[in-house]
Amino acid sequence: MDERQRALQAAHRAALDFLDSLDDRPVWPRATLDDMLAVFGGPLGEEGRDAADVVAELADKAEPGLVAIPGGRFFGFVIGGTLPAALAADWLVSTWDQNSGSSTLTPTTVALERIAGEWICDLLGLPAEAVVGWVTGAQVSNYVCLAIAQHAVLRRVGWDATKRGLRRAPAVRLVVGEHRHGSIDRAARFCGIGSEEFTVVAADDQGRMIPQALETALSVGDGPAIVCLQAGEVHTGAFDPFAELVPIARRHGAWVHIDGAFGLWAAASDRLRPLTDGMTDADSWTTDAHKTLNVPYDCGIAIVRDPADAIAFFRAGGDYLVFTSLDPWDVSPELSRRGRGVPAWAALRSLGRRGVAALIDRLRDNAGRLEAGLRGIPGVIVVNEVPYTQVMFRLEDDEATRALGAAILEEGTAALTGAEWDGRATLRCSMSSWATTQEDVDLTVAAIARLVGELSSRS
Ligand SMILES: *Cc1c(COP(=O)(O)O)cnc(C)c1O
Repeated sequence: MDERQRALQAAHRAALDFLDSLDDRPVWPRATLDDMLAVFGGPLGEEGRDAADVVAELADKAEPGLVAIPGGRFFGFVIGGTLPAALAADWLVSTWDQNSGSSTLTPTTVALERIAGEWICDLLGLPAEAVVGWVTGAQVSNYVCLAIAQHAVLRRVGWDATKRGLRRAPAVRLVVGEHRHGSIDRAARFCGIGSEEFTVVAADDQGRMIPQALETALSVGDGPAIVCLQAGEVHTGAFDPFAELVPIARRHGAWVHIDGAFGLWAAASDRLRPLTDGMTDADSWTTDAHKTLNVPYDCGIAIVRDPADAIAFFRAGGDYLVFTSLDPWDVSPELSRRGRGVPAWAALRSLGRRGVAALIDRLRDNAGRLEAGLRGIPGVIVVNEVPYTQVMFRLEDDEATRALGAAILEEGTAALTGAEWDGRATLRCSMSSWATTQEDVDLTVAAIARLVGELSSRS
């Protein structure tokens, strides 16, 4: 066997061993960053090593610092697992090594990404004419969408910022919700818009933007404006009331962007679609495939209603009204990149329409089951309404809540992360993984009940 074959076999073996360990290993890593720096550290040796040995060493040493994210009981942040078809397709993407920015160079991967983009727009009820840019994640998608929006609203008042720049351009108003995701602030910063320049619109106790407050905010001042809405508040899972908000923004001539990193997928389920009512009328949408669709990382999606707006911002020279021979780099930032949309194609192909809907429904059902279980534990207070995949809870005392969070990670059955909500310490669970079963939810509830009992007997 040659070196390449042996290396790939070593990786294959290590991958299966890791996946096999997921049910039993502690979910949170047992090693710290410093531990792992020590494990891998030291000077780079003069001589190289055999590729298979390198892979075996890597897999072996990596173990204690790995998080069981692809398993069924990781509920931290908002992070999906990896569907089998998506993982296997991701291996092929690396193997094929297709530099996927140009349609003429890499027709296979560009075609797969374009088809996957069309399927996603169809599943989410977004306009068929919209253009889809594949980026690293929702952070970059929010940036891409806001940058395109900023240039588009300026072009509409006669200012071509690709030629004249932004420094002397008319001011663009960025209108955001009180409970926007932090990535909106960073996206705005990348666009040269500072946080003190935002118009911040009040939200209700679940984090939903209040329509009357948006009307009031837009009634003062005029000029180009962008309104940023949200599908899926990262803690409560709440959706902005788009059917009321989008017409208000439209009436004031604003561009409407919706950050739906995980929430947009509610539209793929008959049962949950009402949460997204009215979102179709926006101008741009952000979502991730690496969260709810459960593909490996490096898979965010920027969707723009009018392809001309995306092309005008990204195409280097040439006419932005020419849509034929569209290259990926005409609608997204990178030149050289991997075919990152291919695993999304494989995930969608393996699930089918019905499978995508069933996945979303199951995430919601698991959230409901967890909520019911938590409500049955004396002393646990569920904080949010649980419309979707997020469940947030706390104990009466903030210190006890934080201690419970640390104890859960230490105990190892499940992993979830904390947040501040309404000035109180809370713990939050995100149901985002295809791998989570009802049994995983029940094991998690039992572990939390046990730890709450231990904490209260100690105090
Ligand atoms: C996760 C998330 C983001 C950022 O997404 P990344 O893929 O981590 O870049 C943005 N907005 C919302 C609402 C999110 O949940």
